[in-house]
This record gives sequence, structure tokens and C-alpha cells, in this order.
Amino acid sequence: MSAGPARAPAAEADRLDLAGLRAEFPIFAAQGPRFHYLDSAATGQICRAAAEALLGFETRGRANVKRGVYRLADEATRAFEEARARIAAYLGAREAREVVITSGTTHALNIAAHTLCARLRPGDEILVSQAEHHSNIVPWQLAGERVGAVIRAIPLDREGRLDLDRLDALVSRRTKVIAVTHCSNVTGAVTDIGRIREAAQAVGALLVVDGAQRVPHGPVDVQALGCDLYAFSGHKLFAATGAGALWIRRELAEELPPFLGGGEMIRRVAIERSTFAAPPHRFEAGTPPIGPAIALGAACAWLAGLDWARIHAHEMALAGRLLAGLGTIRGVRPLGPEGLQARAPLVSFVVDGVHPHDVCQLLDERGVCTRGGHHCAQPLHEALGLEASTRASLALYNDEADVDALLEGLEDVVRRLA
Ligand code: PMP
Repeated sequence: MSAGPARAPAAEADRLDLAGLRAEFPIFAAQGPRFHYLDSAATGQICRAAAEALLGFETRGRANVKRGVYRLADEATRAFEEARARIAAYLGAREAREVVITSGTTHALNIAAHTLCARLRPGDEILVSQAEHHSNIVPWQLAGERVGAVIRAIPLDREGRLDLDRLDALVSRRTKVIAVTHCSNVTGAVTDIGRIREAAQAVGALLVVDGAQRVPHGPVDVQALGCDLYAFSGHKLFAATGAGALWIRRELAEELPPFLGGGEMIRRVAIERSTFAAPPHRFEAGTPPIGPAIALGAACAWLAGLDWARIHAHEMALAGRLLAGLGTIRGVRPLGPEGLQARAPLVSFVVDGVHPHDVCQLLDERGVCTRGGHHCAQPLHEALGLEASTRASLALYNDEADVDALLEGLEDVVRRLA
């Protein structure tokens, strides 16, 4: 395949010390050169800072948090709370106590759905979108059903973005919660949260944002976004599996009932009834994922110190190379927005006549890791008239060789199967 002008690296990207950045991710040395990881939307590779923090806690500082009075337990609690503060800083939260440590986005959105739905009445409406990951649909269905709430969805526009021109028709005084993704895990489309916030505020609805696919592309400012709750997973933010976070605006958190019950979330327990701890502990029943949370804090602190303007230019230059390259391969059709505007560096596509699992398998022969399936977004695929797609997702550590290996692999797939 000829390398056209769209494949030329951006000038800003040239100044990024990519080799230095990649060296911060142990997987690349371990896997060697024939390893092209294009599945960061499923899970990001762990950075050294997070890996070392996890190992350090588990091998040198392990104790349960919040209740011990001996030195090791006190140090573990302090490390855990410092992690909370580092996560809060990455999110632009006003205070660390606005951050609830969860096991990931799914857990966070289940907390959000159950605690918010506890305040709803029959006939109240929850507005999601057709682009949501199942974890931002199913919890609302489960919790909403219990109170008789109705789920509605913002449809997609021609480009696969949320059709925000439909907001006026969909949002009313009955709308109590709007829950949308910050960035689609299939199309990469970044949602215009500001416009949705205006619609939510006009009717007094609460705004929940699924940030799982947004956080790996730089620090967030939840206050500027103006949402009420924000969820994400640590494993997509280059930390360990097992920990994530739910940010809840402080004034709101104080008013919300707990979701899971158990140890650590109570003030006083009697057999007849209990009273609950203040947030965030009210939402953290049981032993939290201590090591993974500390690793997540370490990742947030390390990431916060990076030059994100340069990384963004690098990621988008690669996304441009990928989109342009896909456009030159016969029978390959990218999904979602055509350009790079308001888009994360991930692209899903279909190869005419070839099942995504076959695409992934053939790419794997070349050391290219991609994902095929519905990506836990069946309503989105249904709206696009598809069962499944193949997804290539980029992160800060990817390089041109990764993109080119994918494009060459796809040309081979088309030659052999299409
Ligand atoms: N929301 C989005 C947009 C996602 O991409 C994902 C993970 N694919 C999730 C939620 C769920 O994240 P987790 O499985 O880490 O809970």
C-alpha cells in the first residue's frame, strides 16, 4: 500500500518522546517487536508506575484499610486515601471525598443507577442514548423497573453521533436522569456534554457521564463538564484491573442512599435498622480493591504529569493515518464520524463479506491485536444495521508501525477472504 500524504506524521507528534513513553509500559519489552496492541479500548496496558505501586502494596505494605490501628494498617489507609486524592485531581474534582472507589465503570454505573433510581417515581424517565455500552443501559433498566421508571434513548445521527437535535423532543419535566457516554467505545464519537447539560439543567435532571473511553486520552474536568456523576475504569487508564471510580458531586452524594450494604459503609448497625457513613464511604461496602486503587492513583499521578497537547497530536495523527488507510482498502468501511473532529483515536469498521472474528484471527497471525464483536453495544450496532464490527483502538503508546501492520494485515484479509 502506498503511503499517501495522510500517512505523514504530524509535526507536533515528532517531538513526542515515544520511545521513552513506551518504555514506561513493561508489556512492550516483554512482547517484543512483533506486537501491535490495538485493543486499548478493551483494556489499556499497565504503566510502570501503576505496576510498581500494586506490587509495592501487595508485597511490602499490605493491610486492610479504614479499621486497623497498627502502623501498617494506618499506612495502607493513608496510601488508599492518597490514591483517592490523586484520582480526584485527574478528574478535576473539588475534593477527594467526591470520589467513590469502585471495581470499575460497571460497578460505578450500577451504584449510580440504584442510588438515583431510589428517588424516582413511577412514570419518571431516564434518558440514555443508542450509543451506550450495555453497562450504561442495563443498570438503568434493572433499577428503573423496580420503581416503574421509563427508559428512553437519544438516537444516532447520520454520522453515528448522538442526535442532539432530538433533545427538545426527548427531555421533559418527567426526565429525572440523563446518562450518556463521554465517548463511544465503537464509533469513537465524543459527546457534546455541554449541550446535554443545558437540556438536563433546564428540567432539573441529573447528568451521569460514562467516562470509560475518555479518561485514557488525558485528564478530565468534571466541574467544567457540569455533570453530576462521572464513572470510569482503572484498567483502561493504564492501571490494574479491579478498581475504578465514581465521582459524585458532593452536595448530591450527601443526599443519596447507599447501594450495597455491609461493613465500612455504616455509622451504626442495630438489628432493626442501620445508619450510614458519609460519602464516599457510604458507597464503599466491604473491603475495597486496595492494591488496584493505589495503582490507579499512581497511574493518575504519572499521567497528570505528561504533555497531553503533544500526546493528543500524536494520537490524532495516528487516528488520521488509520482512517485514511482504511479508506483505501476495498471492501473496508469505517463506522462513525468521517473526520477526526470530536473523536477519540479508535475506529471500528466492517470488512464486506468477512466476519469480524475472522478478521481478528488473521490479524493476530501478524501480531495485531484487535477486537471483533458487538463490543457490548448491541443497540448501537442495531442502529447501524450490523451485528458486529472490528475495532482498532489506539492509546498514547501506539506508533505508526502498529497502524501500518493493521492496514497491511487488512489488505491481506481482503485478498484472502473478501
Ligand atoms: N462503558 C464504556 C464506554 C466502555 O467502553 C466499557 C468497557 N468496554 C465499560 C463502560 C465497562 O467497563 P468495565 O468493564 O471496566 O466495567
